[in-house]
Amino acid sequence: MTDSPPSILWFRRDLRLSDHPALLAACEAASTVLPVFVLDPRLLETDTPRTRRLLASVAALSTDTRGALVVRRGDPVEVIPRLAAEVGAQQVHISRETTPYGRRRDERVAGALGADGVELVTTGTPYAVGPGRIVNQSGTPYKVFTPFSRAWHQHGAPAPAERPARLPWFRGEVRSDDLPEGPDTAPGTPRGKKADEKVGEKAALERWATFLESGLTAYGKERDRPDLDSTSRMSAALKYGEIHPRTMLADIAARPGGRSAGAATYVTELIWREFYADVLWHHPESAWHDLRPELAKLPYDEGPETDRLVDAWREGRTGYPIVDAGMRQLLEEGFMHNRLRMITASFLTKDLHVWWPVGARHFLDHLIDGDIASNNHGWQWVAGTGTDASPYFRVFNPVTQGKKFDPDGDYVRRWVPELRHLTGAGVHEPWKHANGYDNDYARPVIDHDEERKETLARYESARR
Ligand code: FAD
Repeated sequence: MTDSPPSILWFRRDLRLSDHPALLAACEAASTVLPVFVLDPRLLETDTPRTRRLLASVAALSTDTRGALVVRRGDPVEVIPRLAAEVGAQQVHISRETTPYGRRRDERVAGALGADGVELVTTGTPYAVGPGRIVNQSGTPYKVFTPFSRAWHQHGAPAPAERPARLPWFRGEVRSDDLPEGPDTAPGTPRGKKADEKVGEKAALERWATFLESGLTAYGKERDRPDLDSTSRMSAALKYGEIHPRTMLADIAARPGGRSAGAATYVTELIWREFYADVLWHHPESAWHDLRPELAKLPYDEGPETDRLVDAWREGRTGYPIVDAGMRQLLEEGFMHNRLRMITASFLTKDLHVWWPVGARHFLDHLIDGDIASNNHGWQWVAGTGTDASPYFRVFNPVTQGKKFDPDGDYVRRWVPELRHLTGAGVHEPWKHANGYDNDYARPVIDHDEERKETLARYESARR
């Protein structure tokens, strides 16, 4: 043991060492810092791609701390105070958690530490502007993106935090539990897939540098094309805090093309992430309930027939090629392009008339970037129950969406082998080809035009 006790840095959604205000605060508070990650049994209850991705990121962080990271299994409300007592720490440092579950947990941990005279010190959040900071002139939060975005720009993002010149990790005797690993797949990869994605802070910074160099300029024009590799794929790195959005914003601003249309569009997407976190901060109940009450009377379908349709949606067997391609990418890669998230969410809510939480849960179970704020509010945006009062009459047509955003059909052919024999955009309408069903591709499970009319009728009557 060193003479003076260390401060503790409890890592959660901030698995990096650069641009980390809580790490700086922990370094200032004591001569050494004990980094810890708590494996809450809740995390291990389900074996999801998200959990595996998280564990892979924790493993990378452990390497980056040269093995100083201590892993402890158990409920943080017990584990953190016990660890503080073990090493005599007077302060536990964290980045502020902003989700309903995280906030409740941190309050309980603060209470348990406080009973022992130990302080839980909060510095920074996973966002460039902390949720709750941006309110309108009358002091109320925004529920519509455009004015929020304007106010966000006026507020501005702070500069990235300096990385400490030296990382004074605590090297005393402290027990660390093992990180679990899957039997034949590396953590972080969707079930049945070999690890092919690099994980951790270094990988996130490399991915980001590559995108800045070769993707940012064209981003504005190409971001809606799932057939092109034109988006940054930074969502999982942001989710686990392997990179902070402040770093990304500063890098964009420092580039000669920092004011290009592509750069401006990219910044807007980052602000959507901030917006949804802000909405969840102000309305924690909106995680699983309609944010807006206007459609509370909307009837949804349930029962065995609906279950059958939902299974077809989950497994990519709806008979609508673009929907099936997206759902299969989700199962295979743990990722889905944003345009596909909108198309498939619209299909579930407006073609199958199923309440959005059913789809939001499925996405969270399979996405490696699954994030309660962005996912559940993304779903509500599509369903018309959330922010922006997204036009309830907007029902994505899966065929025209497919032809517009996958114009050569390459995305569908990549994910739906039964349709690979069809060329060009013809892949979006197998029913128009004599050989369209030669490989047993599913027939459409519903008639889109009929269900669109049904949706509009339901929305109209629910609003009366
Ligand atoms: P890029 O296009 O490169 O965007 C850059 C970053 O901006 C993203 O990494 C993300 O952090 C942010 N961003 C982009 N679009 C949005 C958006 N619409 N809302 C919030 N943030 C955005 N994003 C998640 O991170 N986790 C989720 O669980 C999630 N679920 C979604 C569910 C639905 C129904 C919808 C419509 C969208 C969802 N999104 C979610 C938002 C978006 O689809 C993903 O962030 C994006 O596809 C990730 O790919 P990318 O990193 O290449 O994005």
